[in-house]
Amino acid sequence: MIVVIDGPAGSGKSSTALAVAQKLKIQYLDSGALYRAATHLFLKSEESVPLFFETLYKSHFSFYFEDEFKVFVDDLDLTQIIRTPEISSKVSTVAAMAEVREFVNKLMHKAIPSDIYIADGRDLGTAVFPNAECKFFMVANPSTRAKRRHLELLAKGIDISYQEVYDDIQHRDKIDSTREKDPLKQAEDAVLIDTSEYSFDEQVEIIAGHVREAIQQNKL
Ligand code: C5P
Repeated sequence: MIVVIDGPAGSGKSSTALAVAQKLKIQYLDSGALYRAATHLFLKSEESVPLFFETLYKSHFSFYFEDEFKVFVDDLDLTQIIRTPEISSKVSTVAAMAEVREFVNKLMHKAIPSDIYIADGRDLGTAVFPNAECKFFMVANPSTRAKRRHLELLAKGIDISYQEVYDDIQHRDKIDSTREKDPLKQAEDAVLIDTSEYSFDEQVEIIAGHVREAIQQNKL
């Protein structure tokens, strides 16, 4: 059973989904982290697409949520490594490959039936979970998004300038929203939340409120 939040990079989806999951004691699934883990394999394959697909299909991906979303490939913890600027600069190219989308979507579909999840991504409400019980689409202006993401990266000890973060976000948004397979798009039945207008606590409470209502109506 699933609640989805889609939106562009830095719109606040991941931190909001994580806070809602902690508040309501439900599971959190960060679909971007799975695309980032696949990108780690792409870079390890020296960007050779045939070698990458061979490695991808042989690899065992696993993930769980415990305070943070943890992702492993063949038992190797990639949770931190997948946040580097190198992975960020390539992830949208890798995520545009139909084979990779199919691979990641299967991983997510396998997990969902076992619990109540809140997941964030780009195409969850439109393509991956079109029947999700609650759907949200989060947006914010580009400079707000870049400022947020820049602070997050600095807090993780990643040395990067604001301009680099801004350019990376613009670059990824362009690829994500123009790719052929399942582009970033608001689902018709998603609730639009412009996070430039709300404080973090307010946006968490808006989503948690919708989710509580769905739980009470036994939709979740
Ligand atoms: O959420 P995050 O910024 O970590 O996602 C990294 C990238 O993964 C996005 O820029 C996008 O290219 C890809 N992605 C996707 N579909 C999803 C989630 C992420 O294409 N559902």
